[in-house]
Amino acid sequence: MAERERIANYFAALSAAEPGSFLLTDDAALLTSPPGQSIVITTDSVIAGIHLPVDAKPHHFAQKLVRRNLSDLAAMGAVPWRYLLNLHTPPGLGDDWIAQFAAALAEEQRLFGMVLVGGDTTSSEAPIHFTLTCLGLANDTTLRRNGAYVDDDVYVSGTLGDAAYALYQLQHNMAIEEALFQRYVAPTPRLELGQMLVGIATSAIDISDGLLADLSQLLQASKVGANLVRDILPLHPYVANIIAKDANAWRFPLSGGDDYELLFTASPEQRTRIEAIAQAVQLPLTRIGIITSALGITLRDAKGEIIPLPELGWEYR
Ligand SMILES: [Mg+2]
Repeated sequence: MAERERIANYFAALSAAEPGSFLLTDDAALLTSPPGQSIVITTDSVIAGIHLPVDAKPHHFAQKLVRRNLSDLAAMGAVPWRYLLNLHTPPGLGDDWIAQFAAALAEEQRLFGMVLVGGDTTSSEAPIHFTLTCLGLANDTTLRRNGAYVDDDVYVSGTLGDAAYALYQLQHNMAIEEALFQRYVAPTPRLELGQMLVGIATSAIDISDGLLADLSQLLQASKVGANLVRDILPLHPYVANIIAKDANAWRFPLSGGDDYELLFTASPEQRTRIEAIAQAVQLPLTRIGIITSALGITLRDAKGEIIPLPELGWEYR
């Protein structure tokens, strides 16, 4: 099917709720943000063989592509609004595949309240490479990475290392724990949490490259350091069980990627409010450490012994 037909058949309907998209028939879209709101823009890609297995299903591509982007909006405290989509597909990818992808995208739009307003499709021999540019809305204030103060508490949402362990299972042809696999292919962007933290958290970042790597980014932006206690990191029971058998498995929650949880800092005066937010969003928010004037990350175990830091970041991809 020709590019124009694919757009008309599968993607035009996804743009119907935004008149300024012109049903994807013009050269560009024309958008007006709601009065008093700023537009927050982010972009991210999903490449077969890097961010998902080459044989992942069409709906996995739709979910991961959308949610990776939305996690960045969550980290800013923004609300999803509109998006643009660039598809680079190998010629062998049939219309069935595209139809399933578009159907999954429609479901993601419905779940997160977004509308497609433009994009591009090309065909080449390279593996599937999709890029989404997401526009969110925010009031004057957004969350930023650079506001952490000395003595602030350091928090993390949800559990860490689930997706990294699922990927490890995939790569080693092990039986995959379904709950962890879902965390890998369809992470839940912490949008509601991010929005509720505006005005309460002093800084925030989403964890995409691993706890230590992303905390390090936040600390550098804020020009501070942190003391962390490894043994209080929030873990899925399955990951906790693996760690109980093999301490090397601490690498999954510490430096595995793809968590898409929020890491944030707040003054100790906000503890009661943050507990209330945890209740409201029905998500554990765990206090894992404290901000220090000494730069860098100091990691300790439950006994207070310092643990030498492993390489930060992507080493387990
Ligand atoms: Mg991010």
